Amino acid sequence: MALNTGIQWCDSSTNPVMGCLGCELYPTPHKILAAIDRACLHARINGWTSGTARTLFGELLDEVWSELEATDAGPGEGHQKKLTTTNIRHLRKRLKHRVTELFSVKAGRLVEATINRSMKCYAAQLHANRGYDLLNPEREANVGYAPTFEEITLFPGRTKVAAQWSDLTGTDRLEKPWLNGLPRLIFVSDMGDAFSRKKDFGFLRTEMAAFQTPEGQQHLWLWLTKRPKIMREFADSIGGFPANVCAMTTVTSPKTLKRIDALREVNASVRGLSLEPLWGSLADEIDLTGIDWVIVGGESGAKANVELFAIEWAMKLLNRCREEGVAFFLKQLGRRPTYQGKELKLRQLHGGDWAEWPADIRVREMPQYFYNYAAVGASV
Ligand code: SF4
Repeated sequence: MALNTGIQWCDSSTNPVMGCLGCELYPTPHKILAAIDRACLHARINGWTSGTARTLFGELLDEVWSELEATDAGPGEGHQKKLTTTNIRHLRKRLKHRVTELFSVKAGRLVEATINRSMKCYAAQLHANRGYDLLNPEREANVGYAPTFEEITLFPGRTKVAAQWSDLTGTDRLEKPWLNGLPRLIFVSDMGDAFSRKKDFGFLRTEMAAFQTPEGQQHLWLWLTKRPKIMREFADSIGGFPANVCAMTTVTSPKTLKRIDALREVNASVRGLSLEPLWGSLADEIDLTGIDWVIVGGESGAKANVELFAIEWAMKLLNRCREEGVAFFLKQLGRRPTYQGKELKLRQLHGGDWAEWPADIRVREMPQYFYNYAAVGASV
């Protein structure tokens, strides 16, 4: 829950659900180990075969667990001897050392780099630093977080608290002037994906009741998922989203464009796309039918782990949005923007200061629907 968030396209955030079953920004452990195998085989690491990563990680997990059992306290209830992405993250340095000993320095570096480049989800990183950790057995999970990111955890009542936050219609936002004139915009689910499991529908229905109270109707709720098919089923189960819910999904590359087709089928009055982190040009392929808002952003993070972001991709998407009457919002250029083939060096590390951008892409628009809602409320 954040009454004030640094995310440029909203005012606040709330998370009735913490944790997630992953996506391309936080792959399954099997995918990460397969990526390590591919990297080592591609680099012709002597002695590496398909399945080596899994074998080594399994051995390491056994060892770490034995060490934990040998301590006075032993493993706590929250510690898990499982092949999980969280455990790979926590044991990555140990795995690197093991691979260095058994194979080579080059192989060890490759393993670590592959793991670091696989895990890009900010919410997962926060959980990894606050939740249960096999190498830090004394640490309890932080209150308010899932015990580990994969353990989806429900927090009843958070939307009710958020609904009671003050109405911002008519309040100027000094740091985010592009939000002026709008109600409070509350991002739902920036610390997990509430549509990870269908079995949570009953809980989500109860939480959503807060959106439709008189206080909740003062705000717009921006609900983002990478599972729009499940969101569609949920919206159908309640006869469609209320007028103050914007259904949103994320697309990062042509591989995930199909999410937009599923989003179009979500029974909602307004729909948005988050194209962040954007890893390729989408302007020629993207279908914006039924879409009201497009947010674009380059990837942030450590320079070694992020992809390049060509500013020309944003320019082309801006043109597509102009042609189709869709609001466009450029959130940030990310850590490694390029322009006319050259990598740019920006003062602000994630490229979020638009004073540093080419003038014609300093565009942060909000959907017309939001202004209409501000004017007439739920009868929009
Ligand atoms: S919270 Fe979002 S970005 Fe993170 S793993 Fe889940 S779906 Fe992916």
